[in-house]
Amino acid sequence: MNRIVDKPYFTYSAYSALTYGIQVKCPKCQGPGMVTADKDSAYFRCLCCGHKEARDRAVYRYDVHNQCKNCGRYYRVDIEDEERQHFSVLHVDCPYCGTTMPGKVHKTAEAYSYIGEIENGTEPFFCLELWFLTSFQGKPVWAVNREHLAYLINYLSADLREKPTGINVMKTQADHLPTFMKTSKNRERIVKLLKKMQEE
Ligand SMILES: [Zn+2]
Ligand SMILES: [Zn+2]
Repeated sequence: MNRIVDKPYFTYSAYSALTYGIQVKCPKCQGPGMVTADKDSAYFRCLCCGHKEARDRAVYRYDVHNQCKNCGRYYRVDIEDEERQHFSVLHVDCPYCGTTMPGKVHKTAEAYSYIGEIENGTEPFFCLELWFLTSFQGKPVWAVNREHLAYLINYLSADLREKPTGINVMKTQADHLPTFMKTSKNRERIVKLLKKMQEE
């Protein structure tokens, strides 16, 4: 009897960037690359051509705050237009009396951006296509990395699937899987597809 104990929900997801990394296609050479992330930034590096990208994960607020030269009140005007956020000084109107005056643009880190889901076979940090991506009857079948691929193969080919034990295990990794992957009539063919990707 081939049995498998399932893993907690976030084990293999976009959060994998914070642990083992997400394997993706390099936008320059189509070779294999890796997306990783820490608290402040997300990184891409190609294992083939060496192409690198980094992206700040913080979300900034831009504003001009000042004391109005006309009415003497303190005001703050948020700058939401992305094109204007690059200036160090902007002319804004005092929200109380309407007088226009120049003010320094302040940049404040507000929060760390939340990690999105893997969608349409792309990761949420750089929107790069996953390396392990194929399709079954028009639906995407994918894995974030080699560990995830091995998990999927083991999970779908097991005879008996058990939930992990422990308190607070409400959702498991298998809850990510769309029904068409878990349906017994498709399982064998999907395992074949996954194994093919594993050999590549
Ligand atoms: Zn490359
Ligand atoms: Zn004013």
